[in-house]
Amino acid sequence: MKCNLVRDLLPLYVEGDCSPVTNKLVKNHLQSCKECRELYDLMKTPIEIDPAVPDDESEVVVDNQRKLWKKYYGRLIMKGSLLFVGVYALVLTLIELLK
Ligand SMILES: [Zn+2]
Repeated sequence: MKCNLVRDLLPLYVEGDCSPVTNKLVKNHLQSCKECRELYDLMKTPIEIDPAVPDDESEVVVDNQRKLWKKYYGRLIMKGSLLFVGVYALVLTLIELLK
């Protein structure tokens, strides 16, 4: 298969719109041709429309993270206090037993 033909087909190949036979031909060509493979790699990489995240959106993310941390620490603290109460009760029981 010729490079220019493959390059014509690449957009279709990336979109998955090729017939299975064409797909296979392009795939085989990409395996053996570095130039076309590089082009393919470029094409299949999604284009970032706007890499900068808007301010309000990033704040939402931070807020969600904070909530997650709170939840996580809340659970840890709860576990810790339950453990403390458990140990305390055990110690009290032991003291009672040793009396
Ligand atoms: Zn090629």
